[in-house]
Amino acid sequence: HGLAENHAINLVIENYENPPRLRADQRKIKQVLINLLSNAVKFTPDGGEVVVGAKIVSGGDLAIIVRDSGVGISEQDLPRIMAPFAQADGSFNRHHDDTGLGLPLTKATHQGVLEIESEVGVGTIVTARFPRERLITAA
Ligand code: ADP
Repeated sequence: HGLAENHAINLVIENYENPPRLRADQRKIKQVLINLLSNAVKFTPDGGEVVVGAKIVSGGDLAIIVRDSGVGISEQDLPRIMAPFAQADGSFNRHHDDTGLGLPLTKATHQGVLEIESEVGVGTIVTARFPRERLITAA
């Protein structure tokens, strides 16, 4: 991933032995991944780490998890950033004039559920969960 390389960020892809298949619009899922990954890379300083993985969670849903060791999101900002056009208030953001549409769009994709855990200065874990009804399980 060029963006990660340019910023000396270690991009780790956690291996999944038998990846479940998702009944989904490939374009939209790609968009979700690109959005979560580019946010993670964008908000992680040089030398940081971004880890992406997928797993089946309790209830049988598929979770795509993107974890970074970046600037994090403050508790006040967390509820806001899920709204269209929102951006966190931190000084870091003033250098990034983005649309603030990525997360809301991600959330709207395929009845997905978006969970964000974050700590300022430590990093962010974004989990995009897709309902088990959308999984195609191998026989
Ligand atoms: P955009 O990236 O276009 O601003 P998003 O909806 O994807 O729009 O993100 C909204 C805001 O949420 C970002 O501007 C940023 O403040 C915050 N944010 C999203 N992902 C992260 C992350 N991994 N680490 C820190 N802040 C983040």
